[in-house]
Amino acid sequence: MSATSRDVWIYVEHLRGTVAAHTYELLGKGREIAAGLGGRVVAVVLGEGARPLVATLGAADSVLCVDAPAFNPAVPEAGVAVLRALAEARAPRLVAFGATSVGMDLATLLSARLGLPLVVNCKDVRLEDGRVVAISQMCGGKLLAEVEIGGAAILTVLAGAFPVQPGMSDRTPPVEAIPLPTPLEGMSSKMRRLLEPEPGDVDITKAEVLVGVGRGIQRKENLALAEELAGLLGGTVCASRPVIDQGWLPLNRQVGKSGMVVRPKLYVALGISGAPEHVEGMKDSDLIIAINTDAKAPIFDVADYGAEADLLEVVPALVEELKAGCASAA
Ligand code: FAD
Repeated sequence: MSATSRDVWIYVEHLRGTVAAHTYELLGKGREIAAGLGGRVVAVVLGEGARPLVATLGAADSVLCVDAPAFNPAVPEAGVAVLRALAEARAPRLVAFGATSVGMDLATLLSARLGLPLVVNCKDVRLEDGRVVAISQMCGGKLLAEVEIGGAAILTVLAGAFPVQPGMSDRTPPVEAIPLPTPLEGMSSKMRRLLEPEPGDVDITKAEVLVGVGRGIQRKENLALAEELAGLLGGTVCASRPVIDQGWLPLNRQVGKSGMVVRPKLYVALGISGAPEHVEGMKDSDLIIAINTDAKAPIFDVADYGAEADLLEVVPALVEELKAGCASAA
């Protein structure tokens, strides 16, 4: 690998012609870090059909674009082969990915291939006296590690860590269109199909009100209670993993480490214990209300309001109150 440059690379994650919002967060932060290091922020956009996306990457000082037929960088073997070839030739100081399933796959493999350190789940990245310092979240947010990065490194950054606005710009960045730097034939993995959410089902990451149900809901039939409460609050039902594993709700309703990260204005946790893997996905909600029969349930540590109570009693009472409130308001 050539001598390390001062450039900060941002991996541009995209799907169906749309750049993921966290990419703009990274571009904005990348500008700040690159300026402090005396380098440039470089957007790296890969994959068949990537070229038109360059128009949305004006916050970058320059863009590296590899747009080749049948190239899908979300297939880790292919994405990393190309990223490795680019990075070995240009030696960026930092390469930042979103801490998404695609970003994690690429970042971990790239770190191994290049022999560079990897700092995962960063909540913050800053410069202190010319040193790059990252705050890495571990154990579902229970531990924060402050990591000083002396040289070149790979980062994954949590979505929502930085504002989007500084990463948006109308300007047209200079683009370097690069032919595929390594052949993709003969690779052992390929994308067969993209599993889409069930048609008509909701995107819980966009809901302003979520009613989360856990194992405390006890039976599938009791979900109707949560649905009714969610309906009256103008929200949607989501769930902890055991509820999804039972097949009571589709996978795209799961909140947590192996599900969705949500930040609604209101999160009502019904019969959810508050395991770290669940809390990781909902702790940044504006207001959290928990109902649980166990006063020691960890969900109460993150809740703004809590009731030590049986949800099968409280929810019907809440529903009646809300209906009465709606009727008197009409
Ligand atoms: P439980 O822990 O069984 O809690 C049920 C709660 O309901 C209890 O606190 C109980 O007091 C309460 N309760 C019972 N009856 C009532 C009642 N009538 N009224 C009120 N309260 C009642 N979990 C996730 O949720 N999302 C993830 O993405 C996720 N990813 C994971 C990834 C890994 C690698 C691993 C190892 C685990 C993961 N888990 C995930 C599982 C996680 O560790 C917990 O097992 C899970 O979150 C527990 O779900 P729960 O709170 O619904 O169930």
